[in-house]
Amino acid sequence: MNLPASISEARARLADRTLSANELVRAELKAMAAARPLNAFITETPEIALAMAGESDRRLARGEARALEGIPLAIKDLFCTKGVLTTAASHILDGFQPTYESTVTRKLWEAGAILLGKTNLDEFAMGSSNESSHYGPVKSPWRRAGDNRPLTPGGSSGGSAAAVAAGLALGATGTDTGGSIRQPAAVSGVVGLKPTYGRCSRWGIVAFASSLDQAGPFARNVRDAAVLLRSMAGFDPQDSTSADRPVPDYELACERPARGIKVGVPGEYRVAGMPPEIEALWQRGCDWLKAAGAEVVEVSLPHTKYALPAYYIVAPAEASSNLARYDGVRYGLRVPGEDIQQMYEKTRAAGFGCEVRRRVLIGTYVLSAGYYDAYYVKAQKLRRLIKQDFQAAFGRVDAILTPTTPGPAFALGEKADDPIAMYLNDVFTVTANLAGLPGISVPAGLSADGLPLGLQLLGPAFAEETILTLAAELERAASFTARPEPWWRLP
Ligand code: GLN
Repeated sequence: MNLPASISEARARLADRTLSANELVRAELKAMAAARPLNAFITETPEIALAMAGESDRRLARGEARALEGIPLAIKDLFCTKGVLTTAASHILDGFQPTYESTVTRKLWEAGAILLGKTNLDEFAMGSSNESSHYGPVKSPWRRAGDNRPLTPGGSSGGSAAAVAAGLALGATGTDTGGSIRQPAAVSGVVGLKPTYGRCSRWGIVAFASSLDQAGPFARNVRDAAVLLRSMAGFDPQDSTSADRPVPDYELACERPARGIKVGVPGEYRVAGMPPEIEALWQRGCDWLKAAGAEVVEVSLPHTKYALPAYYIVAPAEASSNLARYDGVRYGLRVPGEDIQQMYEKTRAAGFGCEVRRRVLIGTYVLSAGYYDAYYVKAQKLRRLIKQDFQAAFGRVDAILTPTTPGPAFALGEKADDPIAMYLNDVFTVTANLAGLPGISVPAGLSADGLPLGLQLLGPAFAEETILTLAAELERAASFTARPEPWWRLP
């Protein structure tokens, strides 16, 4: 069977009954099994997938198809799924089977989507390369031309990005705290959308940094991302920060003309040492949008250089507090000790990997008496200034265009010993999280060694439609059709 190339194509074939949900799911499960060398999934759920496909086929036969009827998806293993192992890629959640379903995944199932499995990620979503996973790194489906070294799919949602890029799922969920949807999407050659803070409910998603975390979709194209977002978004009384406003039909936004939209290009994103090919890609993006009738102007985001330092204080601070709950009593791993204190200590020492421990240490430090004002409060003030930069810019323009990452995928191990080099990956993405704004990454070209590069569009709060319109335009202009050679395929 010819697997459909997109959700829109699958939807059409399922609707005209030239394809059944069962056939589609079987084909995806087969592709997943053949792609195990990628290590994209922590848990595969074939029985659940086939049962859900059965229900979809019955609904399709009755003419009662829902918005995502029969569409197989991969779910980042940070979303709690009822009765299905949920690990956050941490040893400390060993054997944890939630008794509840995250709101976002519940909404996807209620729209008829099908769970294929739970995807690998950096431990507790802390990282940009997937190398901090307790289950081992995901390998990117991509390789540099003439070089067989395994590359990172990006992180932290590396398994979701790899699954979509390798054709193992038609779409996937991710979470983005500082770039974990957009960065892996960019370096894996797929579309990734981080919605406005509050657009999707965080309920039932393992928390990393609660004031920054947002769920969003990975997809093969912009329209598919819009279709997925429509089912994921919406008010949830169980998340007090979720936004009580209607969910638009995002798909329609992909058809609107870009003519007349004002796009800003922030000079401060021209960071020192940026590779010329990234600079050139950015320029091409500007030209494409201009050719489509958009107006491109320079804008200034003067506090950009403080974004990474502010992020790497705020995110660990919140993480250290959120991760206090893993004590060996309530979830997963327990390492017994002589008394309860020792049990906590032993469990946490054995359960957390080294990046997570680093974040807990940094976070606890910046929140401690005596350092709180010097670090945490200062970072919060910078966060306010970064937000104000965007407010001022969005007084003049409707969206902002930047590269998504400062370079293409790197080799596994290349940055593993240098946390600062790793953190620099997030230079163009963390600002949107600090300011709570929506962003999307679109595959826009290939690097000199044949690896995908992405362009990022940022918008004002709840302007997902504007960035989707522009993203669809970039997608048309870039006509990115490159696909990785399936070196991973087992016989
Ligand atoms: N790479 C960033 C970090 O390590 C962002 C991670 C994320 O968005 N979850 O914190």
